Amino acid sequence: MASKDGFSWTESQGLKAGVPCIGAIQPPTNLNDDSQHGDFDVIVVGAGYAGLTAVRDASIAGLKVLLLEARDRIGGRSWSSNIEGYPYEMGGTWVYWNQTNVWREIARYGMQDELEESYDFSKGIDQFLLSNAQRTQSFSHADEDALMKTALEKLVNVDGNLGKTAVPFPHSAKMSAAELRYDRMTLADRINELRDELTPNERLCVEAFVLLCSGATLETASLYEFLHWWALCDYTYDGLINYLVRYKFHGGQSSFAIRFFREALATGNLRYAFEQPVAAIKQLEGVRGGAVEVQTRAGRSFRGRRAICAVPLNVLDNVAFSPPLSPGKRAAASRGHVNQCVKVHAEVSGTHLRSVTAISYPHHALIYSLGDGTTPAGNAHIVAFGAQHNHFEPDEDVARAVDAFRGLAPAETDMCVRRLVFHNWSKDEYAKGAWFFPPPGLLADHLADMRAPHGHVFFACSDWALGWRSFIDGAIQEGARAVVAVTGSLAGTPSL
Ligand code: FAD
Repeated sequence: MASKDGFSWTESQGLKAGVPCIGAIQPPTNLNDDSQHGDFDVIVVGAGYAGLTAVRDASIAGLKVLLLEARDRIGGRSWSSNIEGYPYEMGGTWVYWNQTNVWREIARYGMQDELEESYDFSKGIDQFLLSNAQRTQSFSHADEDALMKTALEKLVNVDGNLGKTAVPFPHSAKMSAAELRYDRMTLADRINELRDELTPNERLCVEAFVLLCSGATLETASLYEFLHWWALCDYTYDGLINYLVRYKFHGGQSSFAIRFFREALATGNLRYAFEQPVAAIKQLEGVRGGAVEVQTRAGRSFRGRRAICAVPLNVLDNVAFSPPLSPGKRAAASRGHVNQCVKVHAEVSGTHLRSVTAISYPHHALIYSLGDGTTPAGNAHIVAFGAQHNHFEPDEDVARAVDAFRGLAPAETDMCVRRLVFHNWSKDEYAKGAWFFPPPGLLADHLADMRAPHGHVFFACSDWALGWRSFIDGAIQEGARAVVAVTGSLAGTPSL
């Protein structure tokens, strides 16, 4: 099966849209004419992890569920290719056992032994390459860790206590006065405060790392959100690596997401339709117990007792709500988040680059790279990340992406880029960006608004999760939260 999403490029075939994926759903719908307008207990819009969790939990709870998804596949911003049996992660990738919502699901599906490490520091160029426009320096990975640790600890030490006083409860719904203040500061503000404390190499590392995390620019991203990530990662550099970039599914994210969908389907309570972007969600007046009507762009409409809207913040504006959303929700949606990460995979000949990690900054389009696997052909698989800083569209400028990877290898290395694989999240009309990373003040002003229900419509998305906001873990948490709210709200109300 293939999705229309994503791109692959090889020298011989050029750029091709669409990538094989086990999360592409066939047949695209199991609705028949009778159930088209049928009365559902809950209509879930969006089949990312938040929507999938909601669909599964509601189906298991015995509710009649309809899932409407704009794409031809499940997984939203987390999905993997299946190219020659190999998973390139197009979006969300890494998970960790201390992310409790993720791990509960991994245990539920018996996938504990399906994780592998991205890193393998035993092959080829086993180095950390740190480049700016003038020169490339080479370090051991132990030196890399020491440099990154010192630099990042300076960044987060806003309180003289390595951020532990600043963000004491990273899963809290409340933000203290200090947290609100940090949220109104940008990453650039904080780095500017440290201008006399960071060595040139530390500054390169810190800026590249926070751009990797935010996918933004230093001037547009909230300092608080980085402090929040740091707190979630146990306030340590080792934590950052373990939680953020070490462990991934051997079979790819889609091998995980499909379990949620199959479990929901097996209950017999799930109807679904893919390639059905939703245009409007209307609350119907005068129906005892409440009702909603969900209209697709194609003009089909469905009635349910409740709706769960599980679409990302940056595309919430694409859905017309009646009555209109609260002013706070609308303001949040129009500000949006600022992550325009560019994530590109390359299969490069040989194993030379399997063990490399690299920062190329501030001149380069792909700022942060690391060896991510070995392909079935025995070649190195490198994944590289860019941001809004030096942003480019890889589908419009493949040559630039190829050059970026070529630039990774020392000149004497005979290396050839055999394949590129990527998803352009910035141009994706159902995401308009990568994982959530807030501009200054968005959380301070609107976190509660983003999380609030709107009459009989509930909202579930990693973008406004507490705790692991902007991660798969947060999406799963949000999907579960929405179903608890829906079942509570339906208690004692009559069926349609
Ligand atoms: P989404 O996955 O965005 O799901 C929303 C769904 O709604 C989508 O399927 C979309 O098609 C659908 N939709 C949108 N509009 C409509 C509409 N009008 N009608 C119908 N359907 C609609 N997280 C990690 O934990 N680890 C990582 O390593 C990691 N890396 C990442 C790398 C990248 C490049 C990206 C993009 C994300 C990464 N993330 C990572 C974040 C993670 O992928 C997301 O936080 C998570 O997948 C979001 O899930 P969600 O269900 O909240 O939203």
